[in-house]
Amino acid sequence: MLKLIDVSKNYTVGEFTQVALNKVNLEFRQNEFVTILGPSGCGKTTLLNIVGGLDHYDSGDLIINGKSTKDFEEEEWDMYRNNSIGFIFQSHNLIPHLSVLQNVEMGMTLSGVASSERKQRAIEVLKEVGLADHIYKRPNQLSGGQSQRVAIARALANNPDVVLADEPTGSLDSVTSVQILELIKKIAKDKLVIMVTHNSELAMKYSSRIINLKDGQVVGDSNPVMEAKSNSSTFLLKKTSMSYKTAIISSINNIKTKIGRTLLTAFAGSIGIIGIALILSLSNGLDQEISSFEQEMLAGYPVSIPQNVVDLEKIRSFGIEELTPYPSTDYATAFEMNFTKQNIITKDYIDYVDDYVTNIAPDSISGVKYVHNMNLTLLKNVGTDSFPTYIPLQKDLKDPVEDNTSIFSSSFFTLLPEGNVLQDNYDLIYGTMPVNDVSSGTFQALLVVDEYNRIYKPTLQILGFDTDTLTEFAFSDIVGEKFKLFVGEYTDYVTDVSSGLDLEISGIIRIKDGSNVNLLYNGLGYTSDLTDYILEAYPDQVGDINGIYVYPNDFESKDALKLYLDEYNTKFEADDPARIDYVDQAAVFTSMIRGVIDTVSIVLIAFAGISLVVSSIMIAIITYISVLERIKEIGVLRALGARKKDISRVFNTENLLIGFGAGVVGIGISLLLIIPINLIIENLADVSNVAKLSVLHIVALVLISTVLAFVAGLIPARMASKKDPVIALRTE
Ligand code: ADP
Ligand code: MG
Repeated sequence: MLKLIDVSKNYTVGEFTQVALNKVNLEFRQNEFVTILGPSGCGKTTLLNIVGGLDHYDSGDLIINGKSTKDFEEEEWDMYRNNSIGFIFQSHNLIPHLSVLQNVEMGMTLSGVASSERKQRAIEVLKEVGLADHIYKRPNQLSGGQSQRVAIARALANNPDVVLADEPTGSLDSVTSVQILELIKKIAKDKLVIMVTHNSELAMKYSSRIINLKDGQVVGDSNPVMEAKSNSSTFLLKKTSMSYKTAIISSINNIKTKIGRTLLTAFAGSIGIIGIALILSLSNGLDQEISSFEQEMLAGYPVSIPQNVVDLEKIRSFGIEELTPYPSTDYATAFEMNFTKQNIITKDYIDYVDDYVTNIAPDSISGVKYVHNMNLTLLKNVGTDSFPTYIPLQKDLKDPVEDNTSIFSSSFFTLLPEGNVLQDNYDLIYGTMPVNDVSSGTFQALLVVDEYNRIYKPTLQILGFDTDTLTEFAFSDIVGEKFKLFVGEYTDYVTDVSSGLDLEISGIIRIKDGSNVNLLYNGLGYTSDLTDYILEAYPDQVGDINGIYVYPNDFESKDALKLYLDEYNTKFEADDPARIDYVDQAAVFTSMIRGVIDTVSIVLIAFAGISLVVSSIMIAIITYISVLERIKEIGVLRALGARKKDISRVFNTENLLIGFGAGVVGIGISLLLIIPINLIIENLADVSNVAKLSVLHIVALVLISTVLAFVAGLIPARMASKKDPVIALRTE
């Protein structure tokens, strides 16, 4: 059944080559009890390992049931070991973190025997070796003899054809040795048993054939096979493969044996996750907070289409052009430092906006205004009624020289928007609303104060009040103040202004408590009657529309409006000057804050990421240590027929579990930490529940942790799978 033909094996260490087996020719019967005797180092273990397919010969051939093994693949050797061979080692080599039962089951587990059948068979063989009462013990709770019995049970469990025992009594006392040999002899009744021993006395007594080995050569054989041909049965091998379930059970058991270390690793691994989770929860929460702030508080800010739009993108990219500094050219180049983009507000565009405001979605808009540039001069009479002397207070021009409008610029004259937006957001606190008498050219305007009844000093000065000596200005003094408004080109003290329009301050308005709609800055607000009148009466003095302001009702309306305005630009190329950009003041404001939060978050996450890297390295090291610690186990598993893949699977599963654990622990701790963090924020900033972790982030972080741990352990796990089982088993 088994036949070695000219089998040689050399071990080369450095320059030196050790001949372990030298042209060994042996044949074994289907069942006999063979003992191999010989001095230490003569090649006995090597011979057993080669017969068992654990080690491979250099030359010659091993014939199994008439089949040559010269072309055996690694997988076939694995199957051969698993199906046909049972190993019994001198130092029992039980897997310490598995129970007696699980140790015995391992070979069957590898070949995929169903769990109930596995258990039944394992208990059966354990009964046979007299250990039925100890099946749930751990190997370290057994005596030497009991351990060896477990090892024998394990060797027999898969019902192999050949049992190989390497000095099975080497570590046992003589009484126990005899018991073990009795047991092995019983096995040899229907199996081929090849046993290595030093003890020639016991060998004589129990075995049916003694082979003497010396310096790697057979020097004696008490009962060589003489028969012409032994009946060769067909050689059947069943595939072995460790299921993930087995790998997981083995990993969990192993983790249990070093729970402290594993917890520490998982905790270390979780620190990075905690860091990232907290940062994400905060930045996420702040983002949402800003969104709701934007929705609740800033919705009233208009969407404006000014003549000059500050191009934030240009500012951002300014100075980072790819230019060579200190060039050696002998010419200069021109450059522009213009961060504004001109909006050419066409009739077409005005109609487009007007269509939206009046036809498409009038209900979503609370106000709109179209602002014109005009040649206007505000004048005050410092003389008497009969001998008036007008001095100019404020001049607006139809074609402003260079309109350097910033986003938050204020102007002294403000057109009051049409629609409900004024009544909704402003209270008339003194006087009356403007009443205009267009026919006589008499108009009224409102003065705006802020929520503290304050007025800009420049505004008061323009209106002719002495802000140097006075600090309080009675409403009654302000309301009723009369001015002349001259439309046209004005030259100081030359132009006759008697034909100017009359303008009177009729009342004072103040922003409502709780309103955040800043329609007006400190200054005079006039109605569109005035604009319309001037447009009609003095068309030459009116310039183009220099700004459109649309006041949406709420946040959704604003979004819809913005989409509508975006739509207008789709018919132009990206750099077409005909494109018209709008400014959402609220969005500009919040997007700046968002940008800062995002940047800070990224930096912080990068820092937290470092701790993830550190914990990954730790997991790699711990896996490596675990590999070193478990070399024996790796050897045993390989002897039982585990494939290289199965070995790495055991370690990979363990790392996956650790990584998953780290992720879950990290998320758990983060969720706990978020509670006090939110309390602190609530104390400091008076907003509750800012930090929150989204389910998506939780899942992603646990996944990241798991994958990182897996990747970190890949190399050590691969190293483990590549361990030579022969060397692994020789390791003490
Ligand atoms: P035995 O079991 O009879 O004591 P072995 O089969 O273990 O002997 O070893 C046979 C010879 O091969 C010894 O000289 C041993 O030192 C050598 N040997 C065994 N394994 C290796 C190895 N992995 N590397 C180098 N030499 C080895
Ligand atoms: Mg040996």
